[in-house]
Amino acid sequence: MERIELTPHMEEIKRVLGDRIDDETLEAELNKYLNEYHVDIVSAKRGIIRKYGADTAGTATAANATKKIADLNGTEQNVDVLAKIVYVETKNITVKGLSKVIVSGILGDDSGTASFTVWEPGSVQLDKGSVYNFRNCYCKLWNERVQINIGNRGRIEAAPGVEIDVPNSTASLSSTEVKIGDIREGMGNVTVTGKILSVEARRINSRGEEKIVYSGIIADETGKIQYSAWHDFDLREGLTVCAKNCYIRSWKGIPQLNIGDRADVERVNQTIEVEAADSQKTIAEINRIGGGLDITVEGVVVDMKNGSGLIKRCPQCNRSLMAGGVCTVHGEVEGISDLRMKLVVDDGTGAIGAIVNRTDTEKLTGVSMNAAMGLASARGEGVVARELMGRILLHKVRITGNVMSDDFGPSMIVRSAEPVEVDVQAEAEKLLAEVEAAI
Ligand SMILES: [Zn+2]
Repeated sequence: MERIELTPHMEEIKRVLGDRIDDETLEAELNKYLNEYHVDIVSAKRGIIRKYGADTAGTATAANATKKIADLNGTEQNVDVLAKIVYVETKNITVKGLSKVIVSGILGDDSGTASFTVWEPGSVQLDKGSVYNFRNCYCKLWNERVQINIGNRGRIEAAPGVEIDVPNSTASLSSTEVKIGDIREGMGNVTVTGKILSVEARRINSRGEEKIVYSGIIADETGKIQYSAWHDFDLREGLTVCAKNCYIRSWKGIPQLNIGDRADVERVNQTIEVEAADSQKTIAEINRIGGGLDITVEGVVVDMKNGSGLIKRCPQCNRSLMAGGVCTVHGEVEGISDLRMKLVVDDGTGAIGAIVNRTDTEKLTGVSMNAAMGLASARGEGVVARELMGRILLHKVRITGNVMSDDFGPSMIVRSAEPVEVDVQAEAEKLLAEVEAAI
C-alpha cells in the first residue's frame, strides 16, 4: 500500500491512540501488519490499537482509565486517580539551587492510600477531606511505596458531591491477612493461610554460619507462591498452616513469601481446595503483582518477535545458539533443531511476552516440526516464522505458565497453551492462502 492510501487509516488510528504512537512508528507498524503479516487493513488497525494499549471497544477518545490506588504499581506514566485528601501541606524545596514551592501529602480512596506531590501547584487549593480528580499523573516507587506525581501535564479538578471512605491505614503496622493470589511486590507484613504443597531443606552458608533453609510451594484457592522459612516450623507436605508476620520479597518480579524470625506458624484444621485454584489473571493484575507461578492469561496475539520459528539449541546446555551455531557457553557445537514462538499477547488490559515451546507451537499453529523443516529446506528458514505468524497473529489464545517481570515488562514461559477460537483452523487456512499468494 502506498503512503497516500494509508493516510486515512493512520488518521483513524491516531484518533483512538492519541499521542501514544507517533507517525513514523505508526506507518512502520501498518507496513509490518500489511506487508509482513499479510493481514487485512481492519485486522491491522485492530492489532495496532490493541498493541499500543487503547480500549478496542474504543470510542474515539484517548481518555485515561481511572485507577484505584491499590491498583497502581509505580510505573504508570499517565493515569487518573479519583481520591480524597487525607493530609496536605505546602513545602519549600530547593531544586538546582532555586527555591520552589510544592504541595504534597497523602491521598486515599476506598482501596488504600499513597503519598502525592503537586510539582507546579500554581494557585491550586487542596482542602483536607475534599475529593478531587487527579488527571494525567505519573507514579514512582519509593521505599516500595507508590508515589503519585502531578507534573506540568497534570490537572486537578474538584469532584464536589463525591463521597470516598478511606480505610484506616494500619496495614503497615499489623499483619494483613491476604489471599495468595493477591500477594504482590512491596507488601509489608502479611498473614497467609495455605496448604503446603512441597517442602525441601537446604544447607546454606550465611556469613560464615551454616544454616538450614526450608523452602517449597504453598497454595490456597487463589494461587501458589514459593516460600522460604528460616526455622523448622515443622512444615510438612499436605498440612494447612496459618503463617503470621511474614514478608514479601521478589525475585525477577515473582513475589516470594518469607517466613522469617518474627513469623508465627500454626496448623489449622481447614480444607483448602488447591486443585480448584483459578489462577487466571488479567495482564493489568500481573503488572500489579509482578509475576507468579502457574498463571493463566487469555488474550490476542498481537506480535511475534525475532527468534521465533526454527532455532538450534546447544546439545549440552539447551541454550539457543547464536548465528553460526555458537553457544555462549560451549562455543561452536552441532545444534539440535527446535521450534518455538516468542509472542506478544494482549488482553486489552496490557501486553505480556510469551515463549511457546515446540509442542504448543505445533498445537497452536498446526505447523509440525517436520513441516517446518521441510518448509525451511524448500524455501529458507525465514519462511517458517512467517508461516507461523500468518497462522497465529490476531488469534485468541489461553496460555499458562510461570511469569517473571523485568524492565521490559512481564513474560511467561508457557507450559500449556490452547486456541480460544473455535474456527482457528479456518482462519489459519484463510491467512495461509493470503500468505501463499503473497510469497
Ligand atoms: Zn551450551
